[in-house]
Amino acid sequence: MTRSKLIYNVVAVLLSTVLVGSVSAEVSIGSEDALQPALSEKELAAILSDPVINEFSQYSGNAFDDDTVRFWASKAKKAHQSLNTDTLDASKYYDVVLQVGHYPRKKGVTGGEGELVIEQEIAALVATLVREKLVSKLNVVVIPADGYKQNIKTKIFLALHTDSAPLSKSCQLGPSIGYNDNTDALGMRFLAFALARTFNYDLSKFMSDNYTKGLRSYYAFKHFNTTMFEGVLEMEELTCPEKERNLLVGADDLATNLALALELATKEPEV
Ligand SMILES: [Zn+2]
Repeated sequence: MTRSKLIYNVVAVLLSTVLVGSVSAEVSIGSEDALQPALSEKELAAILSDPVINEFSQYSGNAFDDDTVRFWASKAKKAHQSLNTDTLDASKYYDVVLQVGHYPRKKGVTGGEGELVIEQEIAALVATLVREKLVSKLNVVVIPADGYKQNIKTKIFLALHTDSAPLSKSCQLGPSIGYNDNTDALGMRFLAFALARTFNYDLSKFMSDNYTKGLRSYYAFKHFNTTMFEGVLEMEELTCPEKERNLLVGADDLATNLALALELATKEPEV
């Protein structure tokens, strides 16, 4: 088993464990047989102790002050202002196409707004950082929401977004992933794992995959010829001030973990 294959299995197991844990609390004993995870606890422990798991940096839990938050908010604004999107070349085969959600729309569906930054700004920051970290290793490009060349061949297409909720319902949404068929599920869950690891989230805090229709039927999926997987990552609920601050301060760690996950994923044999 290759190392990245191993990690893929870890993610699958972690997710099934989470699901089994949350479901079995509500069902009567006797129906649990059907919910057993694929691996035994011993096998799971062996996988979790693999050094690859520790290559993903983990949220330190340190408190941060307002200055640190402002620093990252201003970095996000700069990343948005000076974003260099890439021109796609139909003769190339890309490893990763990253799309900055809603960028640079000024009307129509322009994206969500937090207290400190707008969705386009935090998405621009994370996309820029991921590209920076991968550019020497993979053929990675960053594209806007509209006007890019279509039918481009790439291993992975990933759109970066944040979620929004009305004020009366803020701080109830977790991160989520969206994709249009099961061939994308493992890859996207792997990215969800990278995000969960960054913020020390239990994966049960995520929304169900494709919890909104827009996630499953994301408009740009049909614009790319992906050979591995395509999906949307809703990194966090931007309308929750606490989560917004966390996402800003953790943006670089998130980019590191996403870059590592994308790097490992592109090493998978293609199906
Ligand atoms: Zn969005």
